[in-house]
Amino acid sequence: MGKKIAILGDIHSNIDALEVVLEDAQSQGVDEYFCTGDIVGYNACPHECLEIVRSLNCPVVKGNHDYYVASERNLEDFNPYAAAVVEWTRGQLSDEELQYLHDMPFSVTKAGITLVHSTMDRPEAFGYVFDNQQAETNFIYQKTLVCFHGHTHCPMIYEKQMSGVYRIDPQEFKLAPGRKYFINVGSVGQPRDGDPRATYVIYDVAERTVNFRRLEYDISAAQARIRAAGLPERLAERLAYGQ
Ligand code: ZN
Repeated sequence: MGKKIAILGDIHSNIDALEVVLEDAQSQGVDEYFCTGDIVGYNACPHECLEIVRSLNCPVVKGNHDYYVASERNLEDFNPYAAAVVEWTRGQLSDEELQYLHDMPFSVTKAGITLVHSTMDRPEAFGYVFDNQQAETNFIYQKTLVCFHGHTHCPMIYEKQMSGVYRIDPQEFKLAPGRKYFINVGSVGQPRDGDPRATYVIYDVAERTVNFRRLEYDISAAQARIRAAGLPERLAERLAYGQ
């Protein structure tokens, strides 16, 4: 029986989306989890999401929201909506939880798979990969054949061939032997590719397939939590559009 790994990230305190994703992973026979970071930020359930991710006992890397929540850094570079939630989230978590976020690594390699929130060239700089050239830079520093990441909230496969980097739209896809892959697993809690459904990836290690899962969840429940917490209305609205 082949091992199936669920790779999920950019959960962003969205408990309604996270619960649906984990139920789906169970029903798909997943036996291991990897997390590409940004457990917190944007939505209203940081404590609950953190507790669930920790209970999975999985490799997890630090996202920029995890990083900012767990540090005293000023938030001038952050967009104002994100910054408001970072401030709010700091007040929701215990010192022990903040320490956990603080101690998460920027990248992890396990069983031939690398995890990073943004890119392997400078994981702590949280650069965005939207084109082949940015992916090319990552590949120079990616030592394993497969690396999963997030950060843009837009699922995508980047394939490195001798002739260059190619982009493959998210779909059920079989990895070719010997080629390197840098795979964006999309976002559980705040998708931004125009499809509001929660996203994650199942990697079948024996079959060498990646399968992008898209799942409907109770968006209005997540929106109600944002409003009840007094977080910016724009963050509730965008969930409905997947932007
Ligand atoms: Zn994010």
